[in-house]
Amino acid sequence: TLFLDQGYAPICLGLEDFYTRRLYLRIQDCFNRPIASAPDAWIDVVERYSKDSNKTLHRTSKTNKCLNLGSYNYLGFAAADEYCTPRVIESLKQYSPSTCSARVDGGTTKLHAELEEVVARFVGKPAAILFGMGYATNSAIIPALIGKGGLIISDSLNHNSIVNGARGSGATVRVFQHNSAAHLEEVLREQIAEGQPRTHRPWKKIIVIVEGIYSMEGELCKLPEIIAVCKKYKAYTYLDEAHSIGAIGKSGRGVCELLGVDTADMDIMMGTFTKSFGSCGGYIAASKEIIQHLKNTCPAHFYATSMSPPAAQQVISAIKVVLGEDGSNRGAQKLAQIRDNSNFFRSELHKMGFEVLGDNDSPVMPIMLYNPAKIPAFSRECLRRHLAVVTVAFPATPLLLARARICISASHTREDMIKALEVISKVGDLVGIKYFPVEPQKH
Ligand code: PMP
Repeated sequence: TLFLDQGYAPICLGLEDFYTRRLYLRIQDCFNRPIASAPDAWIDVVERYSKDSNKTLHRTSKTNKCLNLGSYNYLGFAAADEYCTPRVIESLKQYSPSTCSARVDGGTTKLHAELEEVVARFVGKPAAILFGMGYATNSAIIPALIGKGGLIISDSLNHNSIVNGARGSGATVRVFQHNSAAHLEEVLREQIAEGQPRTHRPWKKIIVIVEGIYSMEGELCKLPEIIAVCKKYKAYTYLDEAHSIGAIGKSGRGVCELLGVDTADMDIMMGTFTKSFGSCGGYIAASKEIIQHLKNTCPAHFYATSMSPPAAQQVISAIKVVLGEDGSNRGAQKLAQIRDNSNFFRSELHKMGFEVLGDNDSPVMPIMLYNPAKIPAFSRECLRRHLAVVTVAFPATPLLLARARICISASHTREDMIKALEVISKVGDLVGIKYFPVEPQKH
């Protein structure tokens, strides 16, 4: 609904059809309101209307304090932090909110240079490049890496920023079935022979693009299997870690660390700062040669204003906390907390009879609603009970696979989660989405 309400996807995809418009009218009271607070565990959601004693509706600016299950605030850095916030305030005073300049002009501060080093070291690649926006990182970088005569093989559930980047590149695009290494191999075999040298193929370059955690499914990428296929066919690998970097892995280094994949096997590692690190922007980490190539050729590097310095400082500080370089063990605690919270919440939802997508350890948990008509009721009944949950539907998902997408944070306490589970259980009964009802125990 977030997607639909903004009118962005229907216009972008040319799908502003009867269905979309009708649904749009019915979802006005979903959780897509201005928020008057930081996107932490609890948020102040601005109400649209209030009722007077005659039950007449009036516009209002009152707020509803809600438990927040909608933000990608995986490690809780979106709230004021004892280590990050003072440093961000200092950087704001020293550098101002904007560089008012592109990286190659006056837009590279010491913070940009430091963040590139910190990110490269954190994700385990020799070098990195920054962008002011996560979405634009994919959509601007992919065309700088590959063009006409190249082949992109993309997971069928890849994010819209990847889809747009791939389309805009001019390369030929093929899609493989979501997370299926076997189908990826079939697609590759249609194009080239196994082991064929790169110089003897009909394609200038082949790039396979996947995500660490799929944001609408909560699933982890089957990375070891996918890498094995890419190696066999000498295809380059591109991994979008928007939802996995910082959130999973023993030291927060993402899906490679969690699944024991050597980052030397990944050619391009992309990620965003907007989730685990509570900031803005995105990065590409890769070999020094690839990063230099991007710095020389990517228009978004030299025509776009560079990342806001305080946003860069926020990421530097957050990564230091994650790595324990702030002198505390808060980073390790946050990582343990998000894992425990995610696994507890997922298993409780299963026990209640909901159909929940995704894998253990993933903080993204879609609860299937299926019928899009259930969206407004689910969202409204949750909000009424002070629970803010994002619901997603067509065109972000297939028409009859609407879902509520829960995002768990390290800043949720056990009490928060128990409260949320009670509300979801009640609303689940009301809306009729417990598709696997649990039989009461017979004694
Ligand atoms: N890649 C993926 C997989 C995403 O889910 C998103 C947005 N949630 C982006 C890229 C874009 O990132 P940002 O929101 O930081 O612009």
